[in-house]
Formats: sequence, structure tokens, C-alpha cells
Amino acid sequence: MNRNDFESGRKAAKILAILSAVGCVAMLMAGDNPPLQGALILLTMLLFVSMFLVIVLRCRCPHCGKVILLGLWNAKVCSSCRRSLSSGNKVKGKKR
Ligand SMILES: [Zn+2]
Repeated sequence: MNRNDFESGRKAAKILAILSAVGCVAMLMAGDNPPLQGALILLTMLLFVSMFLVIVLRCRCPHCGKVILLGLWNAKVCSSCRRSLSSGNKVKGKKR
């Protein structure tokens, strides 16, 4: 697997997370306009699902293939094999 895949996947997931948060706020503000609100609910759900798909498909450890879901935004090392997610090197001084 390409090692840059994780970083680019995380970037894409971050953008989708921001967009779905924006959609969520817009949805709440459109409370007096049901057709618009319905469209925004659909859009937000779509963004949320695609964010989840990006995480599941691309935010994986390049070594053991485990999906990094918890602490994804700040994760630097894989929680199960303790290797760096960006460079793939073993992290020194940290043993589990
Ligand atoms: Zn791993």
C-alpha cells in the first residue's frame, strides 16, 4: 500500500468532516424551511457517509491494515503495531 495513502485519506476525511459540520449547522438554521432542511439533511448524511467510507477505505495503517478511527486527527502511530503512520518506521522508545 502506498504510504502517502494514509495522509491523503486523512486530509480528505478532514475536509468531509468540516463540510458535514457546516451542513449540520445549515440544516439547523433552515428549521423554518422544510424542503430546504430536507435537502440539507440528505446532503449532510451523504457527506457523513462518504467521510466514513474514506476513513474505512483509506485511513489504514500501512503495515497491519488496521483502520485508524479513534484519535484519527492526531494519530501519528498505529495503535496496534506502533509504527509511524506517515513514514512507516518503527517508533523508538515506545513499547507496548
Ligand atoms: Zn499497524
